[in-house]
Amino acid sequence: MSQGTLFIVSAPSGAGKTSLVRALLERLDGLQVSVSHTTRAMRPGELDGVNYHFVETASFEAMIERGDFFEHARVFDNYYGTSRPAVQALLAAGTDVILEIDWQGARQVREQVAEAESVFILPPSLAALRQRLSSRATDDEAVIARRMRDAVSEMSHYDEYDHVIINDDFTTALDDLEALVRAARSRLARVREAQAPLLQALLSGSEAVE
Ligand code: GDP
Ligand code: ADP
Ligand code: 5GP
Repeated sequence: MSQGTLFIVSAPSGAGKTSLVRALLERLDGLQVSVSHTTRAMRPGELDGVNYHFVETASFEAMIERGDFFEHARVFDNYYGTSRPAVQALLAAGTDVILEIDWQGARQVREQVAEAESVFILPPSLAALRQRLSSRATDDEAVIARRMRDAVSEMSHYDEYDHVIINDDFTTALDDLEALVRAARSRLARVREAQAPLLQALLSGSEAVE
């Protein structure tokens, strides 16, 4: 069994990363998104354990103390973090895992997993970003204003990523994201492990071995 690949997806809030990742999961098998822990308030329509594990600040801090997090960061005055055991179990089972995390978390992951594939999603314009944040209708005006301000500083880290996708036309951006996961699956190290019996049979040169 070969290890799954770890994908890091970052974007300013509203660029479309959650929608793109959700659509990608419908297209591909063998891929899961990690459910983060957060201290932020639940949005209308969100479910505990599905969108996030929603926890109190005190229990988040206790998890930090125990070393339960693979990475964690403060974003928009809230804590966000990825549980270590959950991600490790999936990767060990050969499942590809997507982390939807901010740039600070991405740095912590790269330090631990050099082979992680990272992608930054950009909006086609600031006006489109504002429009998407408003049309999502999950945050009030003050929250949207704060997120627009923070978007510029989040986007300034785009050049720390292996890949950059501009989410203008949704289907085109989704195709690009899918291509990236498929390409990772054909990497030599991974095929060597996952297809060991086939490679052995092909290279033995003997048709009878099959
Ligand atoms: P959205 O970006 O509008 O979907 O808003 P969210 O509240 O879902 O996410 C807020 C920020 O926290 C984003 O920058 C996420 O990438 C980041 N984030 C979410 N989960 C995690 C996590 O587990 N770890 C880290 N480091 N960042 C996270
Ligand atoms: P994020 O997870 O990055 O904060 P979302 O996936 O919640 O972003 O997307 C924000 C809003 O923008 C949602 O209402 C979503 O339907 C919309 N959206 C996403 N991608 C596109 C796109 N390519 N064109 C138009 N609207 C989009
Ligand atoms: P939202 O509150 O809109 O769901 O997310 C806001 C930001 O938090 C997003 O940019 C998202 O990428 C980031 N975020 C969500 N989960 C995590 C996480 O587990 N770790 C880190 N570092 N950032 C996260």
